[in-house]
Amino acid sequence: MKMMKDLDKLNTPYYLCDESLLKNNLEILNYVQEQSGAKIILALKGFAMWGTFPLIKKYLKGCTSSGLHEALLAREEFAKDDNSLEVHTYSPAFKDEDIEEIAKISDHIVFNSPNQLFKFKDRVKKINSHVSLSLRINPEHSSSPKEIYNPCGIYSRLGTTLANFDEEVLKYIDGLNFHALCEQDVGALEEVLAAFEEKFSKYFKNLKYINFGGGHHITKKGYDVEKLIKIIKEFRAKYDVEVYLEPGEAVGWETGVLVSSVLDTMHNGMDLAILDTSAEAHMPDTLAMPYRAEIRDSAKAGEKKYTYRLGGNTCLAGDIMGDYSFDEPLKVGDKIIFEDQIHYTFVKNTTFNGIKLPSLVILREDKTLDVVKEFGYEDYKNRLS
Ligand SMILES: *Cc1c(COP(=O)(O)O)cnc(C)c1O
Repeated sequence: MKMMKDLDKLNTPYYLCDESLLKNNLEILNYVQEQSGAKIILALKGFAMWGTFPLIKKYLKGCTSSGLHEALLAREEFAKDDNSLEVHTYSPAFKDEDIEEIAKISDHIVFNSPNQLFKFKDRVKKINSHVSLSLRINPEHSSSPKEIYNPCGIYSRLGTTLANFDEEVLKYIDGLNFHALCEQDVGALEEVLAAFEEKFSKYFKNLKYINFGGGHHITKKGYDVEKLIKIIKEFRAKYDVEVYLEPGEAVGWETGVLVSSVLDTMHNGMDLAILDTSAEAHMPDTLAMPYRAEIRDSAKAGEKKYTYRLGGNTCLAGDIMGDYSFDEPLKVGDKIIFEDQIHYTFVKNTTFNGIKLPSLVILREDKTLDVVKEFGYEDYKNRLS
C-alpha cells in the first residue's frame, strides 16, 4: 500500500482525488437532503471516478446518466446494500437498439420530447412496469454565463418548450425535469424556477416529482445553502411533489488536482515550458469554456519574477494552458500542480496525438494512496481500429 509520502514517486501526469475533500462536499449535500427533503443524485457526466463510489453512495441516492453506458456504470458500481439505488436516465434522443437495456436498469427515464416519449413509452413499460417516466422541459430562461453550457439558449435542442408541450404526455409521466444552470448560485435557481412555474405549474397536479437538474454550485464557498433549503421546502409544500437535484460539478468541486512535470524549457520571445500533460486532451474546458486553471504557488503573468507560457506535449499549436509566473525559474522535472481538476476533466479525456492519459489516484480518508488506474499504449491503440 502506498502512503502519502510516496506521492513524489508517482509518475506524472496523474489526477489526485482527495476523499476527505469529497466527503466535505458530500456532507454539505447530505445536509441539504436532510433539511429540505430533496433527493440528490450524482450526474455522472461531470464526475465518474467510480473508485470513489463506495464513499459517495453512503450519501447520495443514486446517479443520473445520459444514456446506456452511464446507466450501466451506475448499476454496476453504485449498487447499495439496501437496494435503494436510483438510476435516472435521460438522453437528448434514445436509440432503438439501447432502449430495452436502458429500461431494465433504470428507475426513471426522462425523455427530451413528446415524440420520444410516445415512441418508447410502451416498450419501456412492458420491460419494466416500475419505471417512472418524465419529460425534460426547457423553461426558456437563459442564465448560464457561457453559451456552450446554456441549455436554454436560442435554438436549444435540450428539453421541451411550452410551445412544443403536448398535454397528452400527462397521461404517462410522473414528473418533469429541467436543467438550466451552470456553476450558479441560488439566485439563478430562483429565476429559472419562477420561469418554469409560470409556464408549467398548471401541469403539476398529478405529478410525483420535479427534478431541478444540475448546475447548482452548492459546495462552493459562499453558496446560500439555507436559501436553497427554504426554496425546496416551499416548493415541495406548495405542489406536494418530491424534488430531485442532480449535481455533478458540486460533487467533484475542489476535491483534487492534476499533477504534471516540466519536460523542457526554452525561450522564443518569452520563456516557455513544455509539460507532460495537455490542455486539449486533459483539461478541455480550459480551451472550450474557456477558463484559466489555477496553478499552485503561481500568479498571473508578470506578478512574480519568472513568467512562462505553459504548453502541452502535443503538436497542437494551441495546446496552451496560459501564462503563469513563479518565484523561481522552472527546471526540468519540476512539478506543476493544476488546482481543482476533478470535475469535467478525466470524464472528457482523449488520447489525442497518442499522449498518455493521466493516471487516476485516490487519496483515501486514512491517507493511503490508491493508484486506481494507469493507462498505456493499449488504451490508445484499442480505440483506433
Ligand atoms: C450536466 C448535467 C447535470 C449536471 O450538471 P453540473 O453542472 O455538473 O451540476 C445534471 N443534469 C443534466 C441533465 C445535465 O446535462
